[in-house]
Amino acid sequence: MQFYLRFPEWALGRCFKCETYKLVACLGDLTVDGFTIKLFACHPCAWRLEQFHRALRRRHDMAHDLIAAPFLGSHVVLRPGRLEAIKLPERRFRELELASARGEACPPWLLEAAKARWGGQPAGAAGR
Ligand SMILES: [Zn+2]
Repeated sequence: MQFYLRFPEWALGRCFKCETYKLVACLGDLTVDGFTIKLFACHPCAWRLEQFHRALRRRHDMAHDLIAAPFLGSHVVLRPGRLEAIKLPERRFRELELASARGEACPPWLLEAAKARWGGQPAGAAGR
């Protein structure tokens, strides 16, 4: 129900993703090379895109909430305001360095480890 309220206008049309002709809602504009089209998606496709967006946002928030650093000859991940740390194998630390240099999102294994260690959502994602 909430989902339908977020996209108030559903009409018959073609879903850009699964290419089925059914009820679709406008998700927004897509601009490529200065040409803009409106993206219409069916309910399942729109829902999946929203979940995808949320997952990426959580990873983004988590990445900005964690600090990986060398510590006493090993490597740890810290979360500001929390005493417990996650100890990282050297190769995982290098993986994070590389991901950070490339501007990539927080890798799923770190997200899982952070959830297991500190629980719930990172501070940056509170209330969402
Ligand atoms: Zn679809």
